[in-house]
Amino acid sequence: MSTDIPPLTGELLGLDLINTRARSGTDSIDRLSTPDGLRMWVALQGERLKEFGGDVLATVSQADLAAIRSVRECASQLVDHVRHGRAPSDANLRELNRTLSAAPVHLELRWVGSSMAAEARRTGSVIADLAAHLAEAVALVLTDPGVSTIRKCEAEDCTMLFLPASSRRRWCAAARCGNRMRVARYYQRHKDS
Ligand SMILES: [Zn+2]
Repeated sequence: MSTDIPPLTGELLGLDLINTRARSGTDSIDRLSTPDGLRMWVALQGERLKEFGGDVLATVSQADLAAIRSVRECASQLVDHVRHGRAPSDANLRELNRTLSAAPVHLELRWVGSSMAAEARRTGSVIADLAAHLAEAVALVLTDPGVSTIRKCEAEDCTMLFLPASSRRRWCAAARCGNRMRVARYYQRHKDS
């Protein structure tokens, strides 16, 4: 999977986050290894992360990236445990809870035209805000009633996770792994003939 293949998006946001680091075939890639990578992934999320679009993440440091990757690492381990019905580690839970509490949500009131509007805001730096937003998305995955049905892509060499809407879904994406595996099986079958 080279960088010219777009990241897998459109799953639950927390799963999209985990899937930014994945192995597929012989390639492995980390979509969040550079500030540009993070901005590109945030832009691909569109409405879901719109408050972090535009110039909001214009000055992302390596430490900022490390903070986001740390949420992802924690998410990856938590989801791996919880989807198999196993208790997660205390350290991972503490880390996710700490990230959530570092940028708590509060209502901000504004007078708009002739009436009041109340909007949910987070306290904290932009990165703490983004980290908490993503941690919340991970919390939604972990508490989703379908958490035990989260699957890994059926391609043995692909690590992508998804929550299938239909029990028939086998691949992270047919164009990414389904076709690749069909071709591999075809050659396997015809190897000795
Ligand atoms: Zn796959």
